[in-house]
Amino acid sequence: MLEEIKKDLPEFTCLICQKTSDAFQLSVFEDLEFLACQHCGSVTTTPIPDDEFISEYLDSSRTAQLAPFPHNLEKKHFKKHLQDLKAAAQGPKCIDVKCHNGYRTELARMRYFSDITGIDSNPFAIEIAEKRFNKGYFINTSLKDFTDSGEKFDSAICYHGLEYTNSPDEYLQNLLKILNDKAAVYFSLCDGNHFMAPSNFLKWKEVRYPERTHYISREGLDTLLKRNGFKVVKRYRRFLPYQHVIARKQS
Ligand SMILES: [Zn+2]
Repeated sequence: MLEEIKKDLPEFTCLICQKTSDAFQLSVFEDLEFLACQHCGSVTTTPIPDDEFISEYLDSSRTAQLAPFPHNLEKKHFKKHLQDLKAAAQGPKCIDVKCHNGYRTELARMRYFSDITGIDSNPFAIEIAEKRFNKGYFINTSLKDFTDSGEKFDSAICYHGLEYTNSPDEYLQNLLKILNDKAAVYFSLCDGNHFMAPSNFLKWKEVRYPERTHYISREGLDTLLKRNGFKVVKRYRRFLPYQHVIARKQS
């Protein structure tokens, strides 16, 4: 019996910390498994959908009318965190890497970053953003395609973007290409290893498929950012299963 249980433990290599372990299986839904890495605690959807599939889903989704924050408290935190991002940035140019319906970008523009660009690969989201906020500057493109523009920024807002890719390393390498040296980046994402995340993982309202593939732990995020040339300069304590950090590009 014990042997059978052992056999069932899936071995996988965590894309966040890059270590191999017998993963903890948190939930199963049809052919999908949600596996937690024994080393860093990050949770990954297995099999991981490829980027084409994720992009296709994200770009055809017409959910641009969804609320920009899970609840009002997050808006309050967002404003405080942007104030710190502004203080950490060494120049005025900012980019919102996934601007969605433009609400958060506009909030950032009005309060702290008059020179802000919002990008999103979803054409419907950009259409909504442009209609709502005519003083904003929005571009319908993906982070990957935008790297061809050669434009560089002093700060960036990555609100849940790092979870929407099957390759967080590639995402961060693309991000580096559009940042000036010493640029400051605000990362806001779920915390897959937070004590407040529901023990029945599928019941967590933040669990989504196929677009959200990684539920990165705090330890995992530190390792991932360090590996890609970022240093965490500020981490906010949270009672809810989210995490927010400001990191600096190391030149
Ligand atoms: Zn890991």
